[in-house]
Amino acid sequence: MRFWMSLAAGFGLAAAVTGVGQAEEHRQLGAHVHGRGTLNIALEGSRLSMELEAPGADIVGFEHAPSTPEQKSTLEKAEKKLKAPQTVLQLPAAAGCSVTDAKVTIEGEHGGNDADDHDHGAEDHDHEHEAADHDHDHDAADQDHAGHQHSAFHAEYAFDCKSPASLTTIVFDYFKNFAGAQKLDVTVVTPKGQNSFEVSRDKPRIDLGGII
Ligand SMILES: [Zn+2]
Repeated sequence: MRFWMSLAAGFGLAAAVTGVGQAEEHRQLGAHVHGRGTLNIALEGSRLSMELEAPGADIVGFEHAPSTPEQKSTLEKAEKKLKAPQTVLQLPAAAGCSVTDAKVTIEGEHGGNDADDHDHGAEDHDHEHEAADHDHDHDAADQDHAGHQHSAFHAEYAFDCKSPASLTTIVFDYFKNFAGAQKLDVTVVTPKGQNSFEVSRDKPRIDLGGII
């Protein structure tokens, strides 16, 4: 019984948090939905190129500028992880694809907020003895900044594939590697046309048999 109660409370909390996130999202960034990323794939001759856009919430679980050493290290680790395309997807070995380019950028307010964070840090230190006031000020500042705090990871990959005709399936390890990710809207452009897919935690693969 006790377990059930805490489970119910947990669900309530999760729903409330999700609600806040969505309201914020609508206000600021129409296309950015937490849990949902996009991946564009294009095949031209032997060159396979990809562009992934994923909310920071999906990759690291937060979108504000990192304010603790742990958050900084989480961001750096995620950036490194994303630089290896195999953390996102697996291509058929028979296609003989090798990575020719991979880059990751974080888009958002991080650059601008870094300076702010240092200022707040200094302020916090000065007012350390005024615990109540400090908390209050800090909350107010967080609210002021809440609207600016969306960020997204942007990754670009290029591969050279010896046998592009063998690119018949793509399996997404993305969901295993990034706990906040729920869905990816995938668009695949080949000389035969453009196709859209939705992959998810439950269905992390696409079949390209007919369009490659
Ligand atoms: Zn966001």
